[in-house]
Amino acid sequence: MVNLKIDDKKVVVPEGTTILEAARQAGVDIPTLCFLKDINEVGDCRMCIVEVEGRRGFATSCIQTVEEGMVVHTNTKNVLEARHVILDLIISNHAKDCLTCTRSGNCELQDLAIKFNVLDNEFVGERSVHKIDDKSPSIVRDFNKCILCRRCVATCKKVQQIGAIDCIDRGFDSCISTTYDHSLNDVNCTFCGQCIEACPTGALHEKENINDV
Ligand code: SF4
Ligand code: SF4
Repeated sequence: MVNLKIDDKKVVVPEGTTILEAARQAGVDIPTLCFLKDINEVGDCRMCIVEVEGRRGFATSCIQTVEEGMVVHTNTKNVLEARHVILDLIISNHAKDCLTCTRSGNCELQDLAIKFNVLDNEFVGERSVHKIDDKSPSIVRDFNKCILCRRCVATCKKVQQIGAIDCIDRGFDSCISTTYDHSLNDVNCTFCGQCIEACPTGALHEKENINDV
């Protein structure tokens, strides 16, 4: 077992536990975005950063494991300011049409934007523009709302054992898509919908047929 302190709380957890898991066991809230327990633990988005006494920079709590005597701070001014900037940068390349988005009110990105008061975007500039794939009978993909967290990719691959989607291209053109960028309708997707369930934004959603009657 490993003894450490998180926000002045004494915590004892098994060796190999991440700081994030230790904090959750101690009732300390650390925000996450790309993290999906046991499925996508990659430390990509950096929303879960914390400060560890005696170390330079921030530790990514979803992948950094605990160490004996570690003293962790999850809520310092530095941490909160850094999370604000990270979120602002993520949202700077997002469609920001919450008023009409089907996931409004049920969106992890929107919840974090409200929590961290990211209301005006400081990083205004060029945005990536992607086509919308609504060819399949049940799933709409709008990557103008994608934050490249890869939760959908990991879920399709590790949970559903399908691997219909992955990240393609680089830089501004980076996008979650299929082999040769085909529509979901034209690849081995089974339309199970688990990628929608995993998505923290409105980039993936079910197709509505309400107006078809
Ligand atoms: S609907 Fe299922 S099979 Fe298709 S991309 Fe999503 S998770 Fe993979
Ligand atoms: S589609 Fe959703 S789950 Fe997939 S990478 Fe984009 S934001 Fe993440």
